[in-house]
Amino acid sequence: MPDSLTTTSAIAQAADTTMKASAAPVEHFDVVIVGAGISGIGGAYHLTTQSPGTRFVVLEAQESFGGTWLTHQYPGIRSDSDLYTFGYRFKPWTGRPIATADEIRTYMGEVIAENGLARHIRYGHRIRSAQWSSAENAWIVEAVRADTGETVRIGATFLWMCQGYYRHDEGYTPDWPGMEAFAGRIVHPQTWPADLNYAGKKVIVIGSGATAATLVPAIAGDCAHVTMLQRSPTYFIPARNANVLAETLRELQIDETWIHEIVRRKILFDQATFTRRSFEEPEAVKNELLAGVRAHLGPDFDIDTHFTPGYRPWRQRIAYVPDGDLFKSVRAGKASVVTDEIERFTRKGILLKSGRELEADIIVTATGFHLNVLGDIALTIDGKPLVFSDSVTYRGMMFTGVPNMAWVFGYFRASWTLRADLIADFVCRLLAHMKKKGARRVEVALRPEDRDMKLLPWIDAENFNPGYLMRGMHLLPKRGDKPEWQHTQDYWTEKDVFPAIDLDDAAFVYG
Ligand SMILES: Cc1cc2nc3c(=O)[nH]c(=O)nc-3n(C[C@H](O)[C@H](O)[C@H](O)COP(=O)(O)OP(=O)(O)OC[C@H]3O[C@@H](n4cnc5c(N)ncnc54)[C@H](O)[C@@H]3O)c2cc1C
Repeated sequence: MPDSLTTTSAIAQAADTTMKASAAPVEHFDVVIVGAGISGIGGAYHLTTQSPGTRFVVLEAQESFGGTWLTHQYPGIRSDSDLYTFGYRFKPWTGRPIATADEIRTYMGEVIAENGLARHIRYGHRIRSAQWSSAENAWIVEAVRADTGETVRIGATFLWMCQGYYRHDEGYTPDWPGMEAFAGRIVHPQTWPADLNYAGKKVIVIGSGATAATLVPAIAGDCAHVTMLQRSPTYFIPARNANVLAETLRELQIDETWIHEIVRRKILFDQATFTRRSFEEPEAVKNELLAGVRAHLGPDFDIDTHFTPGYRPWRQRIAYVPDGDLFKSVRAGKASVVTDEIERFTRKGILLKSGRELEADIIVTATGFHLNVLGDIALTIDGKPLVFSDSVTYRGMMFTGVPNMAWVFGYFRASWTLRADLIADFVCRLLAHMKKKGARRVEVALRPEDRDMKLLPWIDAENFNPGYLMRGMHLLPKRGDKPEWQHTQDYWTEKDVFPAIDLDDAAFVYG
């Protein structure tokens, strides 16, 4: 970004006009990246390599990098997609495809160290507000420092939102009747207590998603018994935690950079086929998935009740079960699955709608996330609070009425990072384009041909409908019925379309 886009004094003036209450000096950056998770660290890498000379800072609320992989500390925490595609396109993944949180953080730490990114990151900075001033074409970001409690103000020409999609300091737990009566301990995996002793205890894990499927086998060996209590079943893919093609290429002593690229392409190719088939022949795909589960649990297990979802494959994320560990725990009698609904909590455990009571010492609520839109940051545009749900999204990364901002929201059916890399390329290209044009501001706007476009909710619930998105849909921007105005969830199209986006299209308004 050119220094001419905004100057430190211009930002300081903007601060004076919008933030009279505070007299703190304002430091200026061309770009502020919000969050040091996989997206924010990726953004920092791309800025240093594709836009050298850009003055930027990464502001992160937590004390270290990792985001999701730092927040979640529950036993067994691991990815549910493969790291060849969840890893960055630019740094080979050399471990097993499904990785632990520690392995992912080690990988991210290497990206930071190898590219000198540490000096750009400020930890313990929770952004509370961001105010856009059209007079100055700049944002003023206010962040609270964890160490001093001090509020710092930072000027930014461009905000790169890499804050993820859920609140990091608390998970989502429904409010069931009688919870206060339960004599044991209730914990959410997102805030797993370090002192939780589950050895020899009876544990109920409520939920059927990737978290429950990870946690149950991880603790089953130590507990007296673990019950996975689910309202409805989920699809799983039990598979050996290995990639045969990567193993073969390593035997042939192929360079890791090549292996990364080839294996990524193969996985993406296979996923494309799988996704297409899940729409075109859902019954066949469903039967294949269920056969995988049956192979682990044997012919007598009641797969129909416990592992046959009522929806077609891919309407919710499908988690890998590496080496079938969840099913091995069930088969060994260390864990069991109950499919029922909760009537209420009791002193001893949970009373189910069927009338059965499950006893527990510990109840783990693996019930999901609090969707958090834009990092719980109070955004204002020229003094007016931003009503994000009134805006329309441009390809799920920019928003009408919100200047100089891009948002990373990854894929559900493919690895998140694939999209983080694509958006990073787009942002770097957009910044270069602004520089070339001498523009200080860019905003997306509906074109004349879009004015009568039908506006729809952020995501089509018929297509993909996890609980946290359904609960928070009213907070999210609208989409249109044209691909430009949607987050299509389609990597295989976007990988070709994004690099070809015409930045002089009428959808981009410069100033
Ligand atoms: C347990 C779990 C497993 C998952 N497994 C996979 C998987 O295998 N594959 C996959 O594709 N996806 C997976 N996901 C989805 C996952 O969240 C994303 O893929 C990815 O990690 C998101 O990265 P991110 O950097 O965009 O956001 P996050 O990881 O959420 O990081 C955002 C960062 O921004 C910081 N932040 C937020 N608000 C502020 C603020 N106001 N001020 C300062 N900092 C702020 C947060 O502290 C955090 O560090 C998983 C999610 C969970 C919860």
